[in-house]
Amino acid sequence: MEHSKHIETQAIHAGRINDEQFGSLATPLYQTSTFMFDNAQQGADRFAGDAEGYIYSRLGNPTTRQLEMRVATLEKMEDAAATATGMGAVSGALLANLQCGDHMIASKAIYGCSYALISHMLTRFGIEVSFVDMTEPSNIESYVQSNTKLIFLETPVNPNLVVFDLEAIGAMAKKHKLISVVDNTFLTPVLQQPGKYGIDIVVHSATKYLNGHGDVVAGIICGTSEMINNIKMTVLKDIGATMSPHDAWLIIRGIKTLPVRMERHCKNAQAIAEFLEGSPYVDKVHYPGLKSHEGNRFIGTQMQAAGGIISFELNTDLEGGAEFINRMQLFSIAVSLGDAESLIQHPASMTHSPYTQEERLDAGISDSLIRISVGLENSDDLIADLKQSLEKVQVLDNSLLPTKSQQVA
Ligand code: PLP
Repeated sequence: MEHSKHIETQAIHAGRINDEQFGSLATPLYQTSTFMFDNAQQGADRFAGDAEGYIYSRLGNPTTRQLEMRVATLEKMEDAAATATGMGAVSGALLANLQCGDHMIASKAIYGCSYALISHMLTRFGIEVSFVDMTEPSNIESYVQSNTKLIFLETPVNPNLVVFDLEAIGAMAKKHKLISVVDNTFLTPVLQQPGKYGIDIVVHSATKYLNGHGDVVAGIICGTSEMINNIKMTVLKDIGATMSPHDAWLIIRGIKTLPVRMERHCKNAQAIAEFLEGSPYVDKVHYPGLKSHEGNRFIGTQMQAAGGIISFELNTDLEGGAEFINRMQLFSIAVSLGDAESLIQHPASMTHSPYTQEERLDAGISDSLIRISVGLENSDDLIADLKQSLEKVQVLDNSLLPTKSQQVA
């Protein structure tokens, strides 16, 4: 569309399929499993790829197609494939591109089920894996072998918010002809577009910010038309983790407000991260929006802003951390992220429990880490909720706490 240059406009209009029959403004929902052919020859031609047209919703659906075109536009990539879940997207991108005997490199710290897929499942099918610290791009290069085919990472990392240099990693991947796959769930294309740095495939858990309302599990894979076609015609067609048209319809609706939601998530998260950093009850805050964070140098270049996820460690023991979580009132104790509601969880016992404790510590995910997904509520209310629970924390080091007279002041 000619005037659709900005992401706020694209989020509402890109990939729009006009309803010529009735002129429906909202995307029509084609809630159908199959499509009728005019005659046997037309069916045969569609199966042979000699005629355009839908066949069966596992192979493609007009509502789902509109979502794919919209997300591909937002990510500035040629095409996209919608999947049943975020894990459907991660597994689709990896399974379509790897085979027995190949080697892949993955970041040590990634979402727990992505770690389980790569470490426990792909290795069962003869794929060799190196889990690598990606903070130094030159360190990654030393793991490249003659059979290395693919590199997989998230930035910022779930759950400890470490940021990697996409430009350097994209260039390194090109140099060694590796397929690069980046999970962009945390920032969304509104804040970061990995394709700009030569990343080949971008995956999302659309369950999170893309949908944004906590009522769907879904995923999406973006890449070149050739790669997406390959993923659709192999993994999605034959393994079958395709998205339901109803979920696609909900996500299309959610994406219309993605840019405004991300702005508010970032604003709220920045205020909360600054509050937590100033609290004597908190040992360390991991949020790239803070000047003290290693990844802060990438803001304004690789990433437009720091997003809505914060993790932190309290000045207490594990039991004190659990009690802190239990006292929260506005923050719901739940995994997932990117919803209107603020959520709080404990990665070591929840989202990152597929790691052993040793693997987790080696990946820089401490047992005391707490992750919050900052929602769209008023940040003063969220801070008040954190404050009431923090003030009851049994601290390990009370020399950091304010004295009675400082508290009154
Ligand atoms: N990638 C990241 C970064 C995630 O946080 C998650 C889920 O939390 C996934 C992928 C998997 O997504 P889904 O739960 O939609 O399968």
